[in-house]
Amino acid sequence: MRLILLGPPGAGKGTQAELLCDKFNLVHISTGDILRDEVVDGSQLGQQVAKFLQSGELVPDDVVVAVVMKRLAKPDTQKGFILDGFPRTLPQAEALNAGLEKLNLPIELVIYFKTKPEVSLMRLGGRRVCNKCNVNFHLVNRPPKKDNICDFCGGTLNIRQDDQEATVKKRLNIYQNQTHGLIEYYKKTGKLKEVSGDLPAEQVLVQLTEIFSRENLIASR
Ligand code: AMP
Repeated sequence: MRLILLGPPGAGKGTQAELLCDKFNLVHISTGDILRDEVVDGSQLGQQVAKFLQSGELVPDDVVVAVVMKRLAKPDTQKGFILDGFPRTLPQAEALNAGLEKLNLPIELVIYFKTKPEVSLMRLGGRRVCNKCNVNFHLVNRPPKKDNICDFCGGTLNIRQDDQEATVKKRLNIYQNQTHGLIEYYKKTGKLKEVSGDLPAEQVLVQLTEIFSRENLIASR
């Protein structure tokens, strides 16, 4: 299974990517996670992209395309992968297409998480992220068993810097202006499917599983 998850910040792409990767043994490729890790490591790339992440702006296409293509070229992607947060612009989508053709790993489905802005705002406002394993929690929708402690690795839960309300609004605008147009691009390929990102995670997972079975990506139940 080779998928792209498309939708605004706070649509639940990361949550579903985690659930699907566990369920179907896929590689989760989140450009946001990769870039944040680079910033934490203080690598050359991290230093180059830190200001974009902090302000909620998009990292330049050539930088993020190089990061993704390097990750996709690793052998574990042969078992299937989910791209979460990439592509976000038309040049990224075109570069991805060309790169995957070379690797002989074409995308099978693009899932659009249609989500109301107020739902995105509510989700990102309550989001807490593990500083060690990057798993997302939510104060209301997915609270950790112990306050501020990751259920999985015991790491500390933090508020992402770019989840401050003003930055979230800017990220939603950037999504609308630079990313939303990709829906039309992928519609033309016939690979676009839509789920409601407004629904609770369990219900979105049911919708996704139904799509996969209809598309013969998994055996029908
Ligand atoms: P995310 O975790 O997907 O919300 O991404 C967090 C931040 O990482 C974004 O606000 C951008 O600064 C950067 N980023 C992640 N993915 C991309 C991408 N495909 N293109 C450009 N910047 C990205």
